[in-house]
Amino acid sequence: MSAKRVTLTFHGGAGGVTGSNFLLAADGTQILIDCGLFQGDASADERNRKPFPYDPKKIAALLVTHAHLDHIGRIPLLAHSGFSGTVYSTPATKDLAEVMFQDSLSLLKEEAKRRGSEPLYTEEDVSRTLALWKTVPYGQGTLLSGGFSFTFRDAGHILGSSMAEILYAGKKIVFSGDLGNSPSPLLSDTEEITDADYLVIESVYGDRNHEHRQERWGRLEDALEDAIRWGGTLLIPVFSIERTQTLLFEMNALIEDGKIPNVPVFIDSPLAYRITEVYRKRIAELNSGVQERMRAGDNIFEFPKLKFTHTPEESRAIEKIGGPKIIIAGSGMSHGGRILRHEARCLPDPKSTLLIIGYQVPGSLGRALQDGAKNAVVSGQKVSVRARVVTLSGYSAHKDSEGLFAFVEHTADTLKKVFVVMGEPKSSLFLVQRIRDYLGIDARAPQNGESVELEF
Ligand SMILES: [Zn+2]
Repeated sequence: MSAKRVTLTFHGGAGGVTGSNFLLAADGTQILIDCGLFQGDASADERNRKPFPYDPKKIAALLVTHAHLDHIGRIPLLAHSGFSGTVYSTPATKDLAEVMFQDSLSLLKEEAKRRGSEPLYTEEDVSRTLALWKTVPYGQGTLLSGGFSFTFRDAGHILGSSMAEILYAGKKIVFSGDLGNSPSPLLSDTEEITDADYLVIESVYGDRNHEHRQERWGRLEDALEDAIRWGGTLLIPVFSIERTQTLLFEMNALIEDGKIPNVPVFIDSPLAYRITEVYRKRIAELNSGVQERMRAGDNIFEFPKLKFTHTPEESRAIEKIGGPKIIIAGSGMSHGGRILRHEARCLPDPKSTLLIIGYQVPGSLGRALQDGAKNAVVSGQKVSVRARVVTLSGYSAHKDSEGLFAFVEHTADTLKKVFVVMGEPKSSLFLVQRIRDYLGIDARAPQNGESVELEF
């Protein structure tokens, strides 16, 4: 059989972490992998609003790796712009995406009003998107048009997360999506890939290794115990997907084992509640140990003094409850959300503790507090920081440099080319160099907008 040519274009998620959007084209068939939001800097909004650099009407299918907004956030816009192909994901990814889209609608409306512009997308665009969506479980091969087929493999990053393994003309290209920091308490380990000819791999932690992951349980126990002993409020800013559920699972175990006192715990986030509901429903996409426990009736996201608070009234009522208590709320970097009101009230209290368990981007309030700021502006209000601020590392949902390298190494024998994407340039280039030097594979970090021709 004569070789076929496939064009791969990096429309987002190259030269930076966010905006994941890759286009495969061969013989007139076009397939997209992810259609995420650009996030994080002042130019992101403008980049998200730019017309797509391809004709959405001509795209046959969109494969979605997972439900983080930097992988799904522009799909309703794609549907708005004429895309009428099929969206494919795992069942949990579809459920989580629906929750994320609904949640962003009101935020987008508010933001548009503030800026005097149109919202990025509307309720109709979300409905249109969901009507095009089909779900496929892990491991099930699915035919697409034009001779392409694909299988989702478990990426172990968040519930439902997958790698897209695409076959064409007898060769294989794999899009990693985000790769999990296996082993995870809730998820299965990242599946190993074999026989891949081409690989497009994330590199968020391409140049760094995670610390303290083995000691995490003990460190969480110490941090919770200390905070409860001080008698104030323990505030934990979290991301709604995965981090909240992992934390609940670990706290549940510590309380069941009598390792920490059973004080009131509030999940003050309607979004985290809806996402936790998806975790309860989609247990087939959790690891086998967790599945067994849940089937045996163990409610792993529930313990006696845990309360999910929904309405603003319920949220404000938390303040009136005296004695030590734990409040878990978003946003994870204290950018916005209900955590801010609790921070404004608790940061000046020397008995309270702020426990940081996620990455804090430079410039965020969370990062300033983590770096030891003695004064902070929270929701426009000046507060002095007398509460203890404690950071617990080891909670990353991404593979570190070592893990990414080992993942590539597993299929090194057959790989012809590796494209290192979804990382800051420093991280991507470090991983590129390592793959070239130690595995002798042609690796590179493409730029956004770049196209490459691949031989299939
Ligand atoms: Zn992700």
